[in-house]
Amino acid sequence: MADKGAAIVTGGASGIGFAVAKQLLGDGWSVVIADRSRDGLERAASGLNAFSSKLKTLVFDVAVESEVVAAIADCERDAAPVHGLVNCAGIARDVPFFDTSAELFRSILDINLVGSFVVAREAAKLMRANGGGAIVNISSVSGQRGNPGRTAYGASKGGVIAMTQAMAVELAAAAIRVNAIAPGPIDTPMVKQLHTPSDRAIWLRAIPQTRYGTPEDVANAAAFLLDGSRSGFITGHVLNVDGGFAAAGLQTPDPA
Ligand code: NAD
Repeated sequence: MADKGAAIVTGGASGIGFAVAKQLLGDGWSVVIADRSRDGLERAASGLNAFSSKLKTLVFDVAVESEVVAAIADCERDAAPVHGLVNCAGIARDVPFFDTSAELFRSILDINLVGSFVVAREAAKLMRANGGGAIVNISSVSGQRGNPGRTAYGASKGGVIAMTQAMAVELAAAAIRVNAIAPGPIDTPMVKQLHTPSDRAIWLRAIPQTRYGTPEDVANAAAFLLDGSRSGFITGHVLNVDGGFAAAGLQTPDPA
C-alpha cells in the first residue's frame, strides 16, 4: 500500500478518534495519536500494536497553546512528514441555558473550538512545508441544529463549521483541504456517559435510520476526506454522518 505520510489524530485515545486512527493505519498512513490522557493513549497504543512501527503517541491538552505548539513542532522527529490531521479531541456537556455559566461556556469553546484551531494552525505549518495535506474537523449536528442543553456545545461546534470554511479558503493556496464532519449520536464513551435511556429514545425517534452511529461510520468518512486521491476537489464541506437526522423534517410514525 502506498505510504501516505503521517496524520495526527487528536482525541485518539478514545471513541471516534481511536476508530479514526485504526482506519488510517489500515489505509497506509503513519499515525500520531494525541490526547491529554496518558493512560488512555497507552491503552489505545496496545489496541493498535499490530501497527506499532507506524504509530506514535503524543500527550498534550489541546486547550494549552504552549503544549500544542511544542508537541506538534516535535512530531515529525523519527516519523513520516505530516500530511493529515483529524481534530477529534472534544468534550460535551448537556446543561440547561439558565444554568450555563460563562466559565463553562468558555471552557467548552477553549477545547472544542480554540483547541481545534491551534492544533490545525500548527499542523498546517508542517503540511505547508511538506507540499500540502488535508484537515478534518469533527463538528456535530448540534452545531447545525438547536438541540436543548447545548447552547455552549452547539456554539462550539457551529464555530468549528465556520472555522472550517474560512480555513478551506485561506489554505487552498498551500494545497491544504479542510472539511468538517457533523456526526449525529455515535456510540462512544462520551455518549454512553451523556445519554440516559430516555435521551436515547428521543434521539432514535429523530433519526430516520433509527440507530446510533458507530465510531467506524465516522472513521470511514474521515479517511475519505483525508485521502486526496478520492476527495481531492472537496474542501470547505460539512459531511453529515447522522443517519438522516439533519435532513429530516416531519417523519411518519410508521414509514411504508
Ligand atoms: P470520547 O470522550 O470517547 O473521546 C474524546 C477524547 O478527547 C478523549 O480521549 C479525551 O481524553 C480527549 N480530550 C478531551 N479533551 C481534551 C483536551 N483538552 N486535550 C486533548 N484531548 C482531549 O468522545 P467521542 O464521542 O469520541 O468524541 C470525539 C469528538 O466527536 C468530539 O469532538 C465530540 O464532540 C464529537 N462528536 C461526538 C458525537 C458522539 O455522539 N459521540 C457526536 C457529534 C460529535
